[in-house]
Amino acid sequence: MLEGGCLCGAVRYAISGPVSNPCFCHCASCRRATGAPAVPWGTFAREAVRIVRGRLSEFRSSAQVSRGFCARCGTSLTYRHEARAGEIDVTLATLDDPTLLPPRLHVWVKDRLPWTPICDELPQLPAGTAGPAQ
Ligand SMILES: [Zn+2]
Ligand SMILES: [Zn+2]
Repeated sequence: MLEGGCLCGAVRYAISGPVSNPCFCHCASCRRATGAPAVPWGTFAREAVRIVRGRLSEFRSSAQVSRGFCARCGTSLTYRHEARAGEIDVTLATLDDPTLLPPRLHVWVKDRLPWTPICDELPQLPAGTAGPAQ
């Protein structure tokens, strides 16, 4: 069981299933949503992720995408795409122990900022995968 939550502690989640596709997303939409140049995401089965404290607020950032966050402190927590109704993505940096699930690839590298060099040997995809996308 993995646990995590937002900066202020109002929203907490628990995850009871395995991660797939842990990645850094460099897309412009994730950048705006979080204020960070790249965002580490992990994909989980929808039923494996439970909000155990507070309430997730959601913002529809594109036609099929809802981004979940804490309405009190603004921490970005989740990403849902209607084309992947059985899954939900979670910001891996909001885990209580983010060292447990390291990203294994970079996606949307075509959007990468020039001042955010990639300094690892992980695979790089120019656009998305089945995981987080714009
Ligand atoms: Zn919060
Ligand atoms: Zn993204």
